[in-house]
Amino acid sequence: MGEFELIRNFFAAAPCAQGGEGVALGIGDDCALLSVPAGEQLAISTDTLVAGVHFADPCDPFLLGQRALAVAASDLAAMGATPLAFTLALTLPHNDASWLQAFAHGLNLMAQQCALRLIGGDTTRGPLCLTLTVFGRVPTGQALTRGGAQVGDLLCVGGELGNGAGALPLVLGQRTAEPAIAQPLLDHYWSPKPQLALGQYLRNKASSALDISDGLLADCGHIAAASSVRLRVEREALPLSSALLAFLGQEGAREAALSGGDDYVLAFTLPPGELPGVLAAHGSVRVIGQVLAGQGVVLVDATGRDITPAHRGYQHFPETP
Ligand code: ADP
Ligand code: MG
Repeated sequence: MGEFELIRNFFAAAPCAQGGEGVALGIGDDCALLSVPAGEQLAISTDTLVAGVHFADPCDPFLLGQRALAVAASDLAAMGATPLAFTLALTLPHNDASWLQAFAHGLNLMAQQCALRLIGGDTTRGPLCLTLTVFGRVPTGQALTRGGAQVGDLLCVGGELGNGAGALPLVLGQRTAEPAIAQPLLDHYWSPKPQLALGQYLRNKASSALDISDGLLADCGHIAAASSVRLRVEREALPLSSALLAFLGQEGAREAALSGGDDYVLAFTLPPGELPGVLAAHGSVRVIGQVLAGQGVVLVDATGRDITPAHRGYQHFPETP
């Protein structure tokens, strides 16, 4: 099977590559063409996943396809964008039809869940690596950025934290757990649910937003810096799943929620008057803190004591002291 046959069989022929609203030209030419309605902006984000760094190698290609697109789509959710399309740059060590079949199947399922159409890509040989670029649309001026948090706003998250990081020892085969505990954590890791509906709902409501990929404290630091405010996180308010608590205990679950990555849950700041409406529409939302004057992120216990840990989250190139 040559390169063009591979592209045709597994990607051009895939259900998610058959075009749709906004896709004027899909796979097969030198560029794809997207139509953006007047009054809307294009939101664009790229994510690269490297075997052995972002996922175990070898791993299940079906799950990898699902997860790669979910992770990319989560950035659209964080901006309040409506999903439109994506491209896939795929570097493969060999062209293994059964691997590609399973990978394309996982990718298709997530593309359908997220209403994203495959419009192009690139296929090369080398160590396994995927780069996905997602495109979304958002009414002009309404994208949720990291820069608008106001003193007095509430700090909220879209749902339970720490499940992705909690799953990691299971994914890596370092630990085992009974299915009732392992399954929900592994499901969260391999098939994160990008909070697309919540992101779109928060347009014109939230003052800032992002998706948590590197750990709550590290990612809240980005909002604090971009908005020139201080974020206060209450440890007692962290939403933790029963599976995570059963697997890691309270200390471990809190550590996973605060500093672990791979959650793909939204964190956002909200004027207090918006809270009842948001809770009524999205019951998984939790208030976990407040926006204060100042800078940085501070973690407090039930008595209000500062218990901010030194370690913040994962960085590929850590800052030198
Ligand atoms: P070019 O040489 O002009 O860059 P290619 O031969 O690389 O084009 O690709 C041919 C067509 O197939 C293009 O439309 C490209 O976007 C698409 N394509 C290539 N690889 C992939 C892939 N992995 N997934 C989806 N589309 C792909
Ligand atoms: Mg070309």
